[in-house]
Amino acid sequence: MTTGNIESDLIDVLRRRVGKDEFAAKPSDWFYAAAQTVRDRVIDHWIASTRQTYAAGSKRVYYLSLEFLIGRLMRDTLSNLGLTREMERALADHGLDLAAIEEMEPDAALGNGGLGRLAACFMESLASLDIPAYGYGIRYVNGMFRQRIDDGWQVELPETWLANGNPWEFKRRESAYRIGFGGEVVETADGSIAWNPAELIEASAVDTPVVGWRGKRVNTLRLWTANSLDPIKLDAFNAGDHAGALADQVRADSLVRVLYPADSNASGQELRLRQEYFFSSASIQDIVRRHVQYHGDVTTLPDKAAIQLNDTHPAVSVAELMRLLVDNHGLEFDEAWDITKRTFGYTNHTLLPEALESWPLPLFERLLPRHMQIVYAINSRLLREARKSGVMDDDSISAISLIDEGGERRVRMANLAFAGAHSVNGVAALHTELMKTTVFSDLHKLYPTRINNKTNGVTPRRWLQQCNPGLTATIKDAIGDAFLDDTEKLVDLVPLAGDSTLQERVAEVKRSNKVALAKHIKDLMGVRLDPDALFDVQIKRIHEYKRQLLNLVETVALYDQIRSHPERDWVPRVKIFGGKAASSYHNAKLVIKLANDIARRVNADPSVGGLLKVVFVPNYNVTFAERIIPAADLSEQISTAGMEASGTGNMKFALNGALTIGTLDGANIEIKDHVGDENIFIFGMTAEEVAQKRADTYNPRELIEGSPELHQAVEAIASGVFSHDDPHRYTELMAGLYDHDWFMVAADFDAYAAAQRAVDRRWEDAASWRKAAIHNIAKVGWFSSDRTIGEYAREIWGVL
Ligand SMILES: *Cc1c(COP(=O)(O)O)cnc(C)c1O
Repeated sequence: MTTGNIESDLIDVLRRRVGKDEFAAKPSDWFYAAAQTVRDRVIDHWIASTRQTYAAGSKRVYYLSLEFLIGRLMRDTLSNLGLTREMERALADHGLDLAAIEEMEPDAALGNGGLGRLAACFMESLASLDIPAYGYGIRYVNGMFRQRIDDGWQVELPETWLANGNPWEFKRRESAYRIGFGGEVVETADGSIAWNPAELIEASAVDTPVVGWRGKRVNTLRLWTANSLDPIKLDAFNAGDHAGALADQVRADSLVRVLYPADSNASGQELRLRQEYFFSSASIQDIVRRHVQYHGDVTTLPDKAAIQLNDTHPAVSVAELMRLLVDNHGLEFDEAWDITKRTFGYTNHTLLPEALESWPLPLFERLLPRHMQIVYAINSRLLREARKSGVMDDDSISAISLIDEGGERRVRMANLAFAGAHSVNGVAALHTELMKTTVFSDLHKLYPTRINNKTNGVTPRRWLQQCNPGLTATIKDAIGDAFLDDTEKLVDLVPLAGDSTLQERVAEVKRSNKVALAKHIKDLMGVRLDPDALFDVQIKRIHEYKRQLLNLVETVALYDQIRSHPERDWVPRVKIFGGKAASSYHNAKLVIKLANDIARRVNADPSVGGLLKVVFVPNYNVTFAERIIPAADLSEQISTAGMEASGTGNMKFALNGALTIGTLDGANIEIKDHVGDENIFIFGMTAEEVAQKRADTYNPRELIEGSPELHQAVEAIASGVFSHDDPHRYTELMAGLYDHDWFMVAADFDAYAAAQRAVDRRWEDAASWRKAAIHNIAKVGWFSSDRTIGEYAREIWGVL
């Protein structure tokens, strides 16, 4: 039945798998039936892809990530299989609208932000480039929290994305592994080492097919779920201890319950380390099992498997592979170490020292006693090599050690990942250079060829074709459809950027996207937005380094200016904010409240006459991003220079024709190089200047008091103008700006405000704005994740 026509299959699936007929079916039933109908069509491609990989003995890529920010899959799968029209017609026959049915799909939010979304874009590009690959992660039952805004404050609720079942996944109870924790390490009679864990949990696989563009290949996203080996202790249950009888299962469940919403501060919690080891061990066991099953000899692993670590969360995999090779396969330590290094690559995502994962040594040793021994053994080789190299002094040697000996001893996961990988990459050119001079300067001295750059990308299927069909059609009319298969062909738009017909068509598409977003926001929040205003958007996780506060202070300054000079020709603006704050991050949560306080005051003030509107959209996620980005005119990428590793939101916006206002940080620099200085608004200090200023004495108070606009805005916020109900709500937040201002809001404020006025002047010249927008679309095809994955494949994995 997988080849029949969609219409009849749909009704069949509805009856047989949902158990309803078309008269009883609710929209969510239709969604489930539609998804399973599509999935039936994926299966043949999937099996064929797997067969072909086995038959050819191809090398596979394994992408290990604690986060996969997938979002919805219906539109993506239909579009990549070329079945969108057919499904639309099938549903229309029953009076249903595909777009409305798509709204029934929950957004799979198994990630925090950019790092998790990168993993999802990479999975799609791997399939599109026909590279055999598995993604490995955790099937969180609740994932990232759902954000509600109550009286302006963030409230965290569990995301129940699995409540109605997941029509895309296959449970593979037979692909199961035992994961140990605790216990002791003993030497057996034959001299080999045995780890006897005190606790065993079973990891079992849940697979989701990932369809590439034009259905070329279907890869597997394998997410692990946890079970107790003994789900119910019947003797305890029968003795009346009902809860105790289920305690092991509850403990297993808790492992896969939630994703820690910690963005850049290690959560330091035991459960997090248990999660990391759980999914690393299951994945490495699965990879080794598959290799031995098909290739026999474990020593050829690096020829058939490339394992990429997405940040340090899976870094314990290095020790786990060593354990399997030495303890289970009887290899000598040195041979195992050579195999391990040739198999792993490690991607670093942050330079923030507080975000570099490390675990208290006693915790690590208690939970993973055998891995602790292995880490010590790796460390003694590493330090010996460092001493022998002659390029390392004592400080450098203690800096590269896998054990941090300063104060409470800790295991440094980034150093373990670096030592255990043949490739260590950054995610944008600046970030990679900074890795060499900051966090990894000493390891870089010892291994000067290991660090390399792979600038991030985003999949143009989701972030152009699917989220912006109007723009896609317009581009097709202008330059044909070659860009659908090679995003860099968008450059064919360059000679047409000045064409007034194209400009008008692109502007019409943008306006209709803005109308659609305005309607959505009106329905959701009751706020009315003018689609002819400039939509100025900052959507991303709320973090001080991303500087939503800079944008908010400037918004207040603009509000003051509009009220003081109503006679001036102000450009009507809508300021859109969205993003989640880690639940323990006080200042980030306060910034959300501030955005909402400012919105309430500004939006209700008739004296700004609709020239300024502020909205904070609740529960920013992939689905919301897909609505907002096609409707944006201005993309806010204003992090403190040197602190945003790459950013990928910046790429999505430019691809959809928004102009960027941004600092020389992360991939903004490369976007500027591609689109040209005249088509982007760059302001503020460079990373070098920020470092310099932090090293010198930086006096933010002097700066604030010397800038009338900034001073007035900061004082207004500090004195409770936006928080009459609690006048001191922001006093401390503003005092932080006066006292230390680590993120350099004050230092960049005047440059930022000036850049915003340059934005206004450009906007008033509609033709010039539109031309710049087309230039952005044309020149950012390079930021496709297909290009990024091509570079990983050739330069790190050896699979293309
Ligand atoms: C792309 C994306 C991000 C990353 O945004 P940045 O601006 O690069 O931080 C975060 N969340 C979602 C939902 C995204 O789609």
